[in-house]
Amino acid sequence: MSHIVILGAGIGGVPMAYEVRQAVGEDDRVTVVSDSPSFHFVPSNPWVAVGWRTPKQIKLDLAKMLGRKNIDVVVSAAKRVHPGENAVELANGERISYDHLVIATGPRLAFDEVPGLGPLSGHTQSICHVDHAEKARVAWDAFVENPGPIVVGAVQGASCFGPAYEYAFILDTELRRRKIRDKVPMTFVTAEPWIGHLGLNGVGDSKSLMESAMRKRHIDWVCNAKVEKVEPGMVHAIELNEDGTEKKRHEIPYAYGMMLPAFTGIDAVRDIEGLANPRGFILVDKHQRNPAFPNIWAVGVCIAIPPIGPTPVPTGVPKTGYMIESMVTATAKNIGDALAGRPVEAEATWSAVCLADMGDTGIAFVAVPQIPPRNVNWMAEGKWVHVAKVGFEKYFLRKLRRGVSEPFYEKQIMGALGLKKLRTD
Ligand code: FAD
Repeated sequence: MSHIVILGAGIGGVPMAYEVRQAVGEDDRVTVVSDSPSFHFVPSNPWVAVGWRTPKQIKLDLAKMLGRKNIDVVVSAAKRVHPGENAVELANGERISYDHLVIATGPRLAFDEVPGLGPLSGHTQSICHVDHAEKARVAWDAFVENPGPIVVGAVQGASCFGPAYEYAFILDTELRRRKIRDKVPMTFVTAEPWIGHLGLNGVGDSKSLMESAMRKRHIDWVCNAKVEKVEPGMVHAIELNEDGTEKKRHEIPYAYGMMLPAFTGIDAVRDIEGLANPRGFILVDKHQRNPAFPNIWAVGVCIAIPPIGPTPVPTGVPKTGYMIESMVTATAKNIGDALAGRPVEAEATWSAVCLADMGDTGIAFVAVPQIPPRNVNWMAEGKWVHVAKVGFEKYFLRKLRRGVSEPFYEKQIMGALGLKKLRTD
């Protein structure tokens, strides 16, 4: 009997548990270690933050959901991974041994890298976690009673730009619905070198499409922005030239601010030689396997992917749902094969397919592969994207409730585009 332990129960971890359960033998044990008793659907957080969803609508109880499929759940944060001992030390004092470990812990949110940033000890809101989004909603309710300027964006080192645009557009939609948009100057402050870069050097015509969307909605922007500090009511940012020298200092007032932080890996894996890079992201080969510790695998935001190219202000590459689903499928197959003594051959596609909601319309993009030059480099705007995103939420939550993990993006979007089937089995 083998024991497969999965750390993290998010977009990567829960499907990982379902898929690995199917890939291994009935006698093998599968355990999910989660720092929270519930799964939450991160892509809906921007909606929670304006009250379009309640946290309850996007949360699922892990023990109930996974227990039905013979998957154990331990609710405690992983404190330290001990690869040499094949064990994980937990915050509750327990120690769990594994034969195979899958790390799916998403990001640590590095608010601490910019003074005054974030909802924990700073002054800006966040939509990265459902609890932050709920806090942002409470602040939003107070803001709409007494509107003023808004700053939205993503700071230096960020890799997840799509949700920042999404949230800016959703706020704009909500303000127009409330007929108070005229009272709210909006500024988008980003580390990206240009609007629509997205950490991907753009996708399709994203630059002109997204600039146009921002202009239509009267959202100003500052690119190449390094946020020096955030004070109550004021974002201090330095705009850089292409060569990295200082171009201009900006003091941008805000009454409501949401800026995405840089991500790092979690503390439990930091500074473990061979396992994580200096930022704490897990090193994996093309089979999602750590080269130094072959019984450790990783999927999702926690893996190390180098940036696409240098930018004046550091930016990272986003890791989105479709990529994560394909990492999960490859990893489950590989663990099954490793346990059965077969060669480990499955590879994830690492292509980006994304739906960004804009409240009443939206932008969709497909980048295959993610790193240019690409075979598919497509972006489009339309009301259908908003509808598709709502469908994606319902579908994902439903399939997790039912205990299946079936790649949505591949079936719906890649299929619709007539692209080759990318699953590994
Ligand atoms: P998560 O879903 O964050 O899951 C990680 C889990 O690990 C969490 O439950 C966390 O609590 C847990 N954990 C953390 N540390 C520990 C520990 N020490 N011990 C135990 N458990 C731990 N992608 C898309 O394709 N489409 C979208 O529309 C989209 N929208 C997004 C919106 C937002 C606001 C953000 C931030 C990202 C979005 N993404 C989207 C990108 C990506 O799909 C998500 O970030 C996704 O949640 C990443 O999945 P994950 O499993 O890697 O991490």
